[in-house]
Amino acid sequence: MEIAYTIKSVRSHVKAARGKGRKIGLVPTMGALHIGHISLIEAAAKQCDCVVVSIFVNPTQFGPGEDFEKYPRPLEADLEICRNNGTDIVFAPAPDQMYHDENLTWVNVEKLTEPLCGKSRPGHFRGVTTVCAKLFNIVLPDIAFFGQKDAQQAIVIRQMVADLNMPLEIVICPTIREPDGLAVSSRNQYLNPQHRQDAAYIYKSLEKCRKMVNAGKTETSEIIEEMKQLLRQKSSIQIEYVSIVDAGTLEDIESIAGKVLVAVAAKIGPARLIDNIIIDTRK
Ligand code: AMP
Repeated sequence: MEIAYTIKSVRSHVKAARGKGRKIGLVPTMGALHIGHISLIEAAAKQCDCVVVSIFVNPTQFGPGEDFEKYPRPLEADLEICRNNGTDIVFAPAPDQMYHDENLTWVNVEKLTEPLCGKSRPGHFRGVTTVCAKLFNIVLPDIAFFGQKDAQQAIVIRQMVADLNMPLEIVICPTIREPDGLAVSSRNQYLNPQHRQDAAYIYKSLEKCRKMVNAGKTETSEIIEEMKQLLRQKSSIQIEYVSIVDAGTLEDIESIAGKVLVAVAAKIGPARLIDNIIIDTRK
């Protein structure tokens, strides 16, 4: 496995692989790798001949007062995980590789970045799309792999790629969960044991929604209220939003029909956690 700390170095490794006719897969991450990331690496290894994993805690997607400084950065352990799971090239740039002092160009996807996480994290998606555009330009992958766990991010990146005619395919992989349903996340390590137990209620609330829909309920306000009531059973959970939106436009809907995204964001202790499910009533 090659480890590249500079743009020049990753470009030359990728160029060599492409020269051998290899299909390039990119898995963008912020490190602190876990089984969710590994599932993306595995998907990339299945569909591509050369897997590039980027590890970069992107400063521009964190707002003031968020966890940029304390975000875990266990680089050696991450490299070991990459090595053991079929990665060919790790790209782990220092911040000054990715941004110069006078970065004046930003990628901003409109509309889709406004609801859900966009409300409480202004500028977050601009940071995400800008860094992904940079990574796509640096690595020039055939396919980039993202997780359904960050549903809005996946939709926003798909839109960017389509709008800017970026020559790559985006593949979205399913959310990997702990046995109690909690979506695996690098931020779960911020939770103390009590908070960790309570955090399972986020997925419980999503399951509650699915059960209600299966039982014939369609009115979103009623379902959202029941989900909130369930979450309120745990006093450690501070709800940021519980939303049911059209899975394509992310617009609020009054009644469940077709493909909908059910999404929750909540703070538990020091961690802000998000999760979601897709419900498709046509299936
Ligand atoms: P992050 O390092 O948190 O920026 O995540 C990097 C990529 O891994 C993103 O595309 C995430 O959506 C994806 N990811 C994170 N957690 C999970 C999970 N539990 N299951 C599947 N994909 C995930």
